[in-house]
Amino acid sequence: MRLELPSHIDQLRSSLRRFVDEHMPREAAARWDRDNHFPRDVFAKLAALGVTGTTVPEEHGGSGRDILATLVTIEELSRRSLAVSVPYIMAACYAGMNLVECGSQRQKAELLPLVAAGKLLFAYGWTEADTGADLASVKTRATVADDRLVVNGAKRFCSGSEICDYIYTLVRTGDPARRYENLSIVLIDPRLPGVEITPIDSMGMKGARTTDVSFTDVEVPLDMVVGEAEGIDRGWGMITAAGLDVEKLEVAAIALGIAEAACDDAWDYSQRRVQFGRTISAFQSLRHQLAEMRTQLHAARLVTYHAAMLSDANVPSRVETSMTKLFVTETAKKVVLEAQSILGAYGYVKDFDVERYVRDVLLMPIIGGSSAIQRNNIANWLGLAR
Ligand SMILES: Cc1cc2nc3c(=O)[nH]c(=O)nc-3n(C[C@H](O)[C@H](O)[C@H](O)COP(=O)(O)OP(=O)(O)OC[C@H]3O[C@@H](n4cnc5c(N)ncnc54)[C@H](O)[C@@H]3O)c2cc1C
Repeated sequence: MRLELPSHIDQLRSSLRRFVDEHMPREAAARWDRDNHFPRDVFAKLAALGVTGTTVPEEHGGSGRDILATLVTIEELSRRSLAVSVPYIMAACYAGMNLVECGSQRQKAELLPLVAAGKLLFAYGWTEADTGADLASVKTRATVADDRLVVNGAKRFCSGSEICDYIYTLVRTGDPARRYENLSIVLIDPRLPGVEITPIDSMGMKGARTTDVSFTDVEVPLDMVVGEAEGIDRGWGMITAAGLDVEKLEVAAIALGIAEAACDDAWDYSQRRVQFGRTISAFQSLRHQLAEMRTQLHAARLVTYHAAMLSDANVPSRVETSMTKLFVTETAKKVVLEAQSILGAYGYVKDFDVERYVRDVLLMPIIGGSSAIQRNNIANWLGLAR
């Protein structure tokens, strides 16, 4: 099989590299990380390139579903800063893809043009204190009262809740015994009365910082249920919809971008750092290490693009998608740790970006379904007997 990227992807990558050089210099990326800051002005300039429309149909102001372009955008932005790439995902993927797949006609007509313009960011409110991988066990409840929903409960690790327009919140709308049949998704404006946000101090992924969010008698108009009246009790189908399986690929693309940046930095450093009268790139052990890292990244890039192409061609590809999430995030973690070792002591100090890459990449095998969950998926879906 030939894997040739379409020419518009090369153009997109070039224009993103120019954008990153001009608007996301290394010093700024380090500052956003240190201050846990979302550079909204930079994001607005990014949106002007049109990249937030790569998940939005043309009739709603986007350029049509193009998962490969979306992933390449995530990869290129993540090479420099998650403070821009994660909000990009919050717009193009969390808002765009979910509304396209699950929104009502009215919600699509009103909200998708905002996504395409980069003016709508969703945070994900799925995880809770007692709910990690087992999402169908959420306890946050929403009860219908006339034309409103009243929401009570709490979400944990809700990243970007302070910078988003809506929290895409998984709630229980009925008897918890019917695990999968009484879940709904509600768009909750984090500025509503009764919403309280408490930051969680995490290692990495700064910019869209992660938070605890509690809801106390929060009143939400009924038309903010995703899919409106028809969406009530249909939340599980919405989070497992085939068209949305690419969430795992978004995490893979972040990991790929971080690892590429780490490999580039280690490659350059090895040709500058002199010990025993030679650049350390002359030592065979480092040459092999760097060659191995480049090879692993080549493979990671191929599986990511291949999974994106399958998704763009509407080919059922849940196994390949899980394999990609597992392989790319675990490979990226190894590559970044190798890069850190090549920088020696300098890979451990905050003056060098590799220190941040390590903190950021460690998250990738955890979120979007952990590596253990992907292994479960792959074994189950390939029919391995128990
Ligand atoms: C920085 C950060 C940002 C995050 N952002 C968000 C966000 O924006 N929105 C959101 O909803 N969540 C978010 N999360 C939560 C993240 O998605 C969860 O951490 C993830 O779902 C796993 O849940 P858990 O950590 O509670 O692990 P658990 O599910 O409790 O798992 C603990 C361990 O058990 C393993 N395990 C669990 N079940 C199985 C099984 N069946 N088979 C084998 N092993 C298993 C896991 O692999 C893991 O090693 C974020 C987390 C972090 C740290």
